[in-house]
Amino acid sequence: MAAETETFAFQAEINQLLSLIINTFYSNKEIFLRELISNASDALDKIRFESLTDKSKLDAQPELFIHIVPDKATNTLSIIDSGIGMTKSDLVNNLGTIARSGTKEFMEALAAGADVSMIGQFGVGFYSAYLVAERVVVTTKHNDDEQYIWESQAGGSFTVTRDSGESLGRGTKITLFLKEDQLEYLEERRLKDLIKKHSEFISYPISLWTEKTTEKEISDDEDEEEEKKEEEGKVEDVDEEKEEKEKKKKKIKEVSHEWALVNKQKPIWMRKPEEITKEEYAAFYKSLTNDWEEHLAVKHFSVEGQLEFKAVLFVPKRAPFDLFDTKKKPNNIKLYVRRVFIMDNCEELIPEYLSFVKGIVDSEDLPLNISREMLQQNKILKVIRKNLVKKCIELFFEIAENKEDYNKFYEAFSKNLKLGIHEDSQNKSKLAELLRYHSTKSGDELTSLKDYVTRMKEGQNDIYYITGESKKAVENSPFLEKLKKKGYEVLYMVDAIDEYAVGQLKEFEGKKLVSATKEGLKLDESEDEKKKKEELKEKFEGLCKVIKEVLGDKVEKVVVSDRVVDSPCCLVTGEYGWTANMERIMKAQALRDSSMAGYMSSKKTMEINPENAIMEELRKRAEADKNDKSVKDLVLLLFETALLTSGFSLDDPNTFGNRIHRMLKLGLSIDEDETAADADTDMPPLEDAMRLLLMPILTCLPSRTLMPRAARWKKLTKHRPSKTL
Ligand code: ADP
Ligand code: MG
Repeated sequence: MAAETETFAFQAEINQLLSLIINTFYSNKEIFLRELISNASDALDKIRFESLTDKSKLDAQPELFIHIVPDKATNTLSIIDSGIGMTKSDLVNNLGTIARSGTKEFMEALAAGADVSMIGQFGVGFYSAYLVAERVVVTTKHNDDEQYIWESQAGGSFTVTRDSGESLGRGTKITLFLKEDQLEYLEERRLKDLIKKHSEFISYPISLWTEKTTEKEISDDEDEEEEKKEEEGKVEDVDEEKEEKEKKKKKIKEVSHEWALVNKQKPIWMRKPEEITKEEYAAFYKSLTNDWEEHLAVKHFSVEGQLEFKAVLFVPKRAPFDLFDTKKKPNNIKLYVRRVFIMDNCEELIPEYLSFVKGIVDSEDLPLNISREMLQQNKILKVIRKNLVKKCIELFFEIAENKEDYNKFYEAFSKNLKLGIHEDSQNKSKLAELLRYHSTKSGDELTSLKDYVTRMKEGQNDIYYITGESKKAVENSPFLEKLKKKGYEVLYMVDAIDEYAVGQLKEFEGKKLVSATKEGLKLDESEDEKKKKEELKEKFEGLCKVIKEVLGDKVEKVVVSDRVVDSPCCLVTGEYGWTANMERIMKAQALRDSSMAGYMSSKKTMEINPENAIMEELRKRAEADKNDKSVKDLVLLLFETALLTSGFSLDDPNTFGNRIHRMLKLGLSIDEDETAADADTDMPPLEDAMRLLLMPILTCLPSRTLMPRAARWKKLTKHRPSKTL
């Protein structure tokens, strides 16, 4: 009975990807083999892992191998593995109907000029088969299902059929019907070179089905007859006899086949670091990660004594497109036990913030049949983890020795370091040394906290920083005026995650980290300064009261400022409450808990600048007539303006706009009642201006405290493919 063939349509994005792969010109087609071998290796990893706890899983095919079979008679190249195989539903889902998040991203990357060789990083490597093949047939047998055949010439659909043919036992055979101009992939030399180049570090034997032609000399039947006769007779000269024989023999070609093992290297981590070249590390890194670029830095080490393991750790040059995609299982450090691969997403091996570090660990002490559940409590693993974190940080310090490398590293992974400060209390002070910031004194360069400390002024006890949305938004902030005047350097912390990191860090080398925008900024003062301040305080006490009356609950209190020099006033927040920046972050995040917002959101203190002309004028007017209408208007306007310059958002921009309109009219001597003239005036549309002003506030950034961990990760650390794409 003929098996039924079912036809499926490719998911739309996959279909698009296939057309792109087939119709676009790429010269670098050879990477298809690396991708298919890497899939075979993954499938072998999976069955090996299952077999660690249940040996019978290997029964159908005890050997773990990858076979490569070119066939010139049919122009096909087959890649066969004895891995886990696919069930029918695996076939349908994995090879055509469920698109990975990377499908679209990969197409976008290609459109932006990326190389096809990046395909593996986007999780769609299988489809690279269509770079060289016009038709692909996948035969596969999973322990839990019958054998099935998947087949497609692209063009929108694929078929799946039950296979009643010869059984694979277990595993997958991918047969590529090569395009006419791709027959080079049937050549033994080419295949061998390719496997060596791209798949040298695959930890399963890769064997190539090779053809051997030997010339054999045989004599034909008649000759043999004669020979026999001759042998019967006695011939004295033996040499002569031999020559005679050779003349009679015929040369024929004999074709034989054999498996040639192509990857013979012993695992790179078992070799001595000093004997391994940079190129070898790079090749290993690429095979480990599917990255198309070399690594930025590597650390290869072994730990001996109580506990023994070897490890190779790599830092990539850039963050992958899905670094913080929490749906994707992390695939960073591969765990081996005595050379046997155990698993590649062992979360217990390395903390989340270091998930960008790639590499392998090979333990001598763990049991081979370790299960995921056991790993969670395993003491050995905890010690390994501690060591890995230490070595990673060492590696970052090594990178920091080269400025150019470190800039690259910092651009890609600074968010991870900051997350580390937030989450790894043991290492936070070490990690803090790796931080770099722009500052009021750093110019275009970034400065470290260590360098900041060396530049601290006499009498300066604290490290000052300001948080905000961007360097531009903070560098002219009124909060910095006095600090700048005193010559104190202020760090610009303009990454959303800075707010969290600095909240954990609190101090560096014994110096307190002090926010320039919070209450309690105490600056060192001379006796003269103190005296002058006292006088001003007294003088402005009345005005402070009036302002507080006008503003009511909008502010906690109104005081004479220490920190503003030029601006009329600013709004500061409580030392332990949120900063304006944090309030912005919290307001913008969708999942915020409103009760928390009420409680944490900043109690604002208005600080007024007694040396500012506006304040002086206001003071005079208020003293003359407490109920002067213009005083009230001015106070409200000053407050709302201060909200903006201090980094807060306006609850009611319309009222603010109207107030400005009124002031403008006043300035232009237009009568308050002539409202009809409004539409005709050439006034800039203030609401629009306000909207422009408020645009940046719409940027959403969440907080650790209020968001589920996954969502927080994703948003806090959103990375896009870097400029190289
Ligand atoms: P990735 O390898 O990143 O998952 P691919 O496009 O290369 O993406 O492969 C898609 C999926 O198809 C794999 O995740 C796997 O489930 C399945 N697959 C591909 N090749 C094999 C194979 N040789 N054996 C078993 N499953 C395979
Ligand atoms: Mg793959």
